[in-house]
Amino acid sequence: MLRVNPIKLARYALAGWLPFGRKRCSMCDHAVWRFMPYGKGSAGAPPLMRVLSIVGSDPDHFECPRCGAHDRERHLLMYLDATGMLAGLRGKSVLHFAPEKRLASRILAAGPERYVRCDLYPQSRDVVRVDMLAMDFDAASFDVLIANHVLEHVGDDALALSEIRRVLKPGGHAILQTPYSRALHETWEDPGIANDAARLQAYGQADHVRLYGRDIFDRFASTGLVPRVRAHGELLASVDAILSGVNPDEPFMLFQRAD
Ligand SMILES: [Zn+2]
Repeated sequence: MLRVNPIKLARYALAGWLPFGRKRCSMCDHAVWRFMPYGKGSAGAPPLMRVLSIVGSDPDHFECPRCGAHDRERHLLMYLDATGMLAGLRGKSVLHFAPEKRLASRILAAGPERYVRCDLYPQSRDVVRVDMLAMDFDAASFDVLIANHVLEHVGDDALALSEIRRVLKPGGHAILQTPYSRALHETWEDPGIANDAARLQAYGQADHVRLYGRDIFDRFASTGLVPRVRAHGELLASVDAILSGVNPDEPFMLFQRAD
């Protein structure tokens, strides 16, 4: 039987259903009082993560109490809207890794000609199994590829990025939102950090395999993808990040296959 925590339910109800909330979810367009934290919020993050200026999800303003959309999903939708890329998906072919359910419905509604939702471990019938390290697609198959918070989980990211480049059409775009530390000069990855407890402390989550540093853009570019990264302030200057519950430090991590 499904067990519902009555305290959690009350918190979500107050945050999402009490009228006159000042914040607004870009996904469901409801006014809310607050976005709900991930676990204990930033106070629950490993100590190292609290001091390394991590650009990624905001654990304090994480989940919409109405629709459940996470901050990185809401932010990506705002970026897709602001750049016109969402409307531009009409008639295009799109590959979406670890597809977020609500974002996926918005993409589907935009009318792409082909929309493949995939995951290494698919959990639903709409999602096919694809290994990012060996994609079963011809070269130059897709106009747009989306991997929102995926590459920090992938063992050989250079191979994954070269596969991403291969399956994109020349001129095609990859949206590769990935958490990184603005403090670290170099990406931190060490094979000795080899169990869940160590990965949690070193990389911020037990299922992350590295912590990217500010070399992330060069690292992605070294595989032949051209960075077209744009800052929140450039694309969403009129948006109040606090009222939208998104992290203004997280840029739109757009890359292009030039040829
Ligand atoms: Zn919502």
